[in-house]
Formats: sequence, C-alpha cells, structure tokens
Amino acid sequence: MNIQKETGAAQGVQVNEAELTEINRLARTPLTAEQIYTFSVRLCDNEIDRDFERFPRETLNELAALFAGTTGIFDHEWSAKNQTARLYRTEVVRDAAAVTRTGEGRWYLKGYAYMRRTADNEALIADIEAGIKKEVSIGCAVRRCICSICGEELSRCGHVRGQLYNGKLCFGELREATDAFEWSFVAVPAQREAGVVKQFRFGPAAAATTLKELLAAAPEPEKWLSALEDLEKQADLGRRYLESLRREVVRLELLERRDVDEDTLRTIAEKLSEPELLEMKRACEKRLEKRFPPPVQLCYGVQSRDGGEKDGAFLI
Ligand SMILES: [Zn+2]
Repeated sequence: MNIQKETGAAQGVQVNEAELTEINRLARTPLTAEQIYTFSVRLCDNEIDRDFERFPRETLNELAALFAGTTGIFDHEWSAKNQTARLYRTEVVRDAAAVTRTGEGRWYLKGYAYMRRTADNEALIADIEAGIKKEVSIGCAVRRCICSICGEELSRCGHVRGQLYNGKLCFGELREATDAFEWSFVAVPAQREAGVVKQFRFGPAAAATTLKELLAAAPEPEKWLSALEDLEKQADLGRRYLESLRREVVRLELLERRDVDEDTLRTIAEKLSEPELLEMKRACEKRLEKRFPPPVQLCYGVQSRDGGEKDGAFLI
C-alpha cells in the first residue's frame, strides 16, 4: 500500500565541510558552499496520526535508507520552474522531550536537503528561511499495516482503528517499507490544521509483487480475492482448451505430414495463438478430406443397417 502524508518544518542548515562532502557525492559537478543552500525537513515520525496509523521506529529506519538521495519538488508553481532539492542525508532523530500517545519516546525521520542557489531559487530560499513553506509531503510504500491489538493485518482482523479494547487503543503499524517515491513542499492554506495528513492509495506502484498480494492488502480483501479466484478458474479453462486445440492440430498434421516428427510439430504448435491454431486445423481438415474418402457413405451405411434392423423388429 502506498502512503502519502504531509508533515511540517523545514529549516536552514549550515553547510560545513562534512555536509559538502556528502552533497558532492551526489552532485554531477563539484559544488562549493556558496553555490548551495541546505535545509532540513521533518519527513515523518512514530506518533499515531489522525488516521490512527503510525510508522514504528524500525519503519522509520527503513524509510531513512530509502529516502536518502531522493529528489524533492516544490508545489506546482515552483516545480514549473524546475526547482528541486535533493536529500543528501537522512537520519532518525529522537524528539527530545516529546512522548508518543503510547508512552514511547518520539522519533522522527529527518532529511537534509540541498538546492542550488540561483536567481530563480532566491524567493523560495527566502520562504524556507522565513518558515513559510513548511508543509512537506511524502509518498512511500509499505507492505503491511498491522493491528496494534492482535498483530494481524488490520484490514482483516476485525478490530476498528481508533477504538479502545480493554482500554488499549487500536491503530495500524505501518511496517516493511519498500519504496520512497517522493517528497515535496506542498502549497497549503495558512490556516490548515497542524499535524499529519495522510491518505492511502492503492496503485500499480504498491509494494505487492503479485496480484494476490496487492488484493490482500486492499480494503475488503475477500471480495477481490474471490473475484481473482473466479478469473483464475476461467484462465485455467482457457489454458486447457488451448492445450487440447494444440494436441488436435498436432494429431491432424501427423496424419497428413509423415515427414515431420511429432516433437517438431509440437514445438511449432506451442508458438501459435488460438486463431492461428484454428486456421491450421481448418486447413488441415480440408486437406485430409481431399486425401481420404469422406466417411459420410460409411456412416450412412452403418446407420442404415442399424435402422433397418430396428425397423425390421417393428415389422415382425
Ligand atoms: Zn486486530
């Protein structure tokens, strides 16, 4: 499942020698401290958010590795001018005094980004410095959302996020981060409620590696999985039909072309599509009809004799 969330706070960072070395490891051409502007962003943390989900510390660590080196963009207005910043370093940081709702220490994923100091970027840098462009949005993929009550997949276990069970809050633990797609500064209304905004979206970029895994992670997975099962049965039927068609074509060809061996014919048939096989079968039957006397008379004869006997019985 893909996670999209918005969080806050960008802050200017002093460029020192060590930072510059890290930045120049990513830069195409070596940059000097004067040429760049560096700042830090708070990408996400381990607090339970308004959707009653959170990234536990292990996931934050996974995300730290995934986000390092990724490019961030500024909202549409800015990205139109092709302005980007790049995370040259990430780390999971303890939020000094803060404690999460579960009573654990609060940790967050901090990213350090750099951008070129250009005339175009001047206003943007001034905004970051002034604390105006504060909202940061991230998009990432996690494999699982685990129920805090029972440890099963939250979409399947029946517990409801946000509810209390024997005084314990039910929420989802987002685990096994597999991808970090994006981070960006988004245009947000000034009065926007502080905190984390996040949405799930299911898409082709989800962490699942099979269709079954993808559907198992969707809401109401039983419905989707049973639809998939129906399709699998139909696909199986189709495969068996195609296989019998191939066998039939090989059989007919063998009757007609004694110079080609069965294995070769089979290899050829394997490569043909259904319409091609049908066409081959039709042509083959036609040729066989010409070569061998049509069995119509023989059939007629047999039927006639049978019919005759039956009729005979009636005649007695
Ligand atoms: Zn549960």
